[in-house]
Amino acid sequence: MKYSFLKLPVIFLLTCLISSKVLFAQDSVSLRMHLNTLCSKSFSGRGYVNDGMGKAADYIVNQFRSDSLQSFTKDYRQAFTYPVNTFTSVMDVKIDGRTLQPGVDYLVHAAASGYYKESMKVKIIDGLDFAEKVKKKDTVLIKDWEKWSKQLTKEKFAFVLQNIDTINSLMQWKGNKEFVKHLPKGVFFIPYHKKPIWTVSQAAMPATVIEFYDTNFVFKKNKISVAVDNKFLTKFEADNIAGFVPGKESTDSFIVITAHYDHLGKMGNRTMFPGASDNASGTSMMLELARYYAANPAKYTMVFIAFAGEEAGLLGSKYFTEHPLMDLGKIKFLINIDIMGDATSGISVVNGKTHETEYNILAGLNKAGIDGFSFKEVRQGGAAANSDHYFFTEKGVPAFFIFSMGGKGYYHDIWDKADKVTLQNIPQFGELVKRFIATF
Ligand SMILES: [Zn+2]
Repeated sequence: MKYSFLKLPVIFLLTCLISSKVLFAQDSVSLRMHLNTLCSKSFSGRGYVNDGMGKAADYIVNQFRSDSLQSFTKDYRQAFTYPVNTFTSVMDVKIDGRTLQPGVDYLVHAAASGYYKESMKVKIIDGLDFAEKVKKKDTVLIKDWEKWSKQLTKEKFAFVLQNIDTINSLMQWKGNKEFVKHLPKGVFFIPYHKKPIWTVSQAAMPATVIEFYDTNFVFKKNKISVAVDNKFLTKFEADNIAGFVPGKESTDSFIVITAHYDHLGKMGNRTMFPGASDNASGTSMMLELARYYAANPAKYTMVFIAFAGEEAGLLGSKYFTEHPLMDLGKIKFLINIDIMGDATSGISVVNGKTHETEYNILAGLNKAGIDGFSFKEVRQGGAAANSDHYFFTEKGVPAFFIFSMGGKGYYHDIWDKADKVTLQNIPQFGELVKRFIATF
């Protein structure tokens, strides 16, 4: 053995680089496996069709069990219910015999009712006509709208609504979200000049609103056929999944990692929203951290929670904070992960301005480097009610919500697929979180 002393540091450095690369590579294999599974067809977009959310819950329970996490309940589950509007079977919209592509040409409004009717005539309704009708009035009342909108009750027509903004501002309604609730039963096309973004609704409304995204299409004397089936469930049953690894030094102080595992599911029986980035990616990271801490317990008890019902309005985390499985006052810190699929531009930290000290620790660890890697940016964000950290923050639990910045920007659409998620710099995020947790 004749290595010179000069060469030793080089070899050491090389070994470190290679081993950290191998480490990150292994992490990314596990992350990829979870991600692909959670986005696969059989999970149906982890929503309300074919028990998709239930299957994802089972998957997480099995992971927690095989990693030997402990449970607050008998099977890691915390059950709760909520009302939700679902589209579980037929969804077929045709113009002049041509079937429109769901998720591409149109979205059915999340709160829409079902409707079956063939060969409706198109009638274009312009909001400017309403403005014309009420223009001499100082204040426009709901009865003005009700009188004018009577023309929308003729069920032989499919209405195409234009210039709704005018109506919204006259009625002082908060955009189309409020507008559509005032529509009667019937079919209404609302043209949009933006990317389709679908949601989940806890309520159902009388109208069947078709958000129409084919901007090249000009409605004339067309024939429209609609077959949309909805099911409004008053008590959809969902489970939060929680497991923990007792701390080495203290078992009644907690560090909590959370991620929502639900997504939008399917719009009808054919159109799936895989939710790869949102939030199969964050769920995969949470599972990997759970596996790591099960094998390498921390100073404090590590708690891992996968929330349901996030897309319907942060419902799982709200329920958990109202029915906590442990003392919320004993949480030293909580990290919520929602969208962790591609961090080529860095990471963003919601509540980074609220918890300045912890933010500085995190940013400092990044600056020092994670085995030679640093994120381009660790953005210091303010408070926001945009994910599952929110109700914890409201209860005084110190929490960050961290999401990755980068990727193709697919969001709540049919293109948010596993193969579009690169996992670039994502294992490094896992390592940064471990180092951050070690500072507590
Ligand atoms: Zn979402």
